[in-house]
Amino acid sequence: MKDIYEIAVVHGDGIGPEVCAATIEVVKAALGPDSPLRFSEYPAGAEHFLKTGQSFPEPTFLACRAADAILHGAGGLPGVVHPDGTEAGLDFTLKLRFELDLYANIRPIRLFEGVESPLRGVKAGDIDYIILRENSEGLYAARGSGARLRGEVAVDTLVQTRTGIERIVRKAFELARQSDGAPRDGVRRVTCCDKANVLRSYAFFRSVFDEVAKDYPDIATEYALVDAMAMHLVLKPGHFNVIVSENMFGDILSDLAAATVGGMGMAPSAEIGDANGFFQAAHGSAPDIAGKGIANPYGTILSAASMLDWLGHKHGDAKLNQAAGRIRSVTEACLAGGLLSADLKGSASTRQITHSVCDRLAAAA
Ligand code: ATP
Repeated sequence: MKDIYEIAVVHGDGIGPEVCAATIEVVKAALGPDSPLRFSEYPAGAEHFLKTGQSFPEPTFLACRAADAILHGAGGLPGVVHPDGTEAGLDFTLKLRFELDLYANIRPIRLFEGVESPLRGVKAGDIDYIILRENSEGLYAARGSGARLRGEVAVDTLVQTRTGIERIVRKAFELARQSDGAPRDGVRRVTCCDKANVLRSYAFFRSVFDEVAKDYPDIATEYALVDAMAMHLVLKPGHFNVIVSENMFGDILSDLAAATVGGMGMAPSAEIGDANGFFQAAHGSAPDIAGKGIANPYGTILSAASMLDWLGHKHGDAKLNQAAGRIRSVTEACLAGGLLSADLKGSASTRQITHSVCDRLAAAA
């Protein structure tokens, strides 16, 4: 247990500052006047790149590495790019993942009471699974080191290592063990999502998955090819419990999955390594709605609840876990009570949602 937990905050671009500020208010309300969290802000992202030529300053990196946890809004703006055409505003998230070895990207997908799914006949509780995205290798490991030859050829390399696969698959089985199983049948199940029928790297992923699975005889296993998986997540989402996949596949499937539970604004994430934890919603900076005050803050708020849980477990500090529990139950109550942003077909602004969540938390304290 610590007296003070240092939280490095990077607001980022687009709706990032809006959802991040909302979330800090919520966390403060959940912990009350004696909160042991100290929030310090650092710059990074596309706007900062436009102003200074730097997308991820070294002092920001050092502060993030030294902090007890990192909270981020969202980064990146279309058109703000490096000479190679890649987005400068994504440097923060991507470099942080690789530099701090945040290998496990845990993305809970859950349909809450009060939120309508675009899938017919699906109600709250019917969708409740985790996408566990490998976050440190795969195709994205090539970022910044791919090749462009004479304006004719471009190459990026997909990298999968035994160590990288083993640790993410082990994490998947541990998450399944702690869970209540799939909504449809209550079975604790890990689904290995790959493209093992086409590429050796994915066949390797699957073979290491099989080896690790032997240590977890209590957990059911299965394989799904990623293209079929896109269909399964629409047709039988209740079947899934924990899905483990390579980095880019996890990225793509997360957006599809988020759409089934109300959209990108409803998708939290926790990016965890052995030493550091990084928390942001799964969505990007949504520049189309930035500055309008209508961004959905629930995904970032739920990510902060995961941050408190992670810190609480890491430091044996039960009051942080209790605060996480309060944020989750108040969030659930607000959604069930119809406090919905525009993306959820409601009319509540970011501020209205933030105030209501904070008021309820204050009342619960
Ligand atoms: P990235 O690749 O950087 O994750 P993306 O291309 O997936 O970004 P997002 O920025 O996540 O794109 O947004 C996609 C669309 O989803 C946005 O244009 C916006 O309309 C909607 N959206 C995303 N996040 C939110 C949010 N928090 N509240 C409301 N709408 C959102």
